[in-house]
Amino acid sequence: MLMRNRQELQEAFKSSGETDFYTWVATQPEGDRGQGRIVSSAPSLSRRAKNLGTAMTQVAKSNKPIFELSEEAKRRLDICKENKCGLAKVTKLPFVGEVLFCQHIDCGCFMGLKTKLSAMKCPKDLW
Ligand code: SF4
Repeated sequence: MLMRNRQELQEAFKSSGETDFYTWVATQPEGDRGQGRIVSSAPSLSRRAKNLGTAMTQVAKSNKPIFELSEEAKRRLDICKENKCGLAKVTKLPFVGEVLFCQHIDCGCFMGLKTKLSAMKCPKDLW
């Protein structure tokens, strides 16, 4: 298992030619993302709370109906499930089962809900 510290990861990122660190790090070997050396692509709880506040403001300001029609919501969710962004992560929650979360720093949302809200956008502009 490859284990690099934060500085080594940042140097590897600089030489990779990628532009989005959090997307890049999500594609790195598991060892670089766990066990105290974590350079997680997922936003922290406080960042998620901030993102949620931003999202709710967008919903409130939008003139669109709150919920998407099921076809558009399904299209969005299918894109997330394809995981071309490398940021979709399935997590098993007690009493709920498997849920899909977006690990983007500007998101961290539960995609089953976010994809149904009209005013929401993919932070990678994939939908
Ligand atoms: S919202 Fe965008 S970045 Fe997040 S999981 Fe879905 S496709 Fe990927």
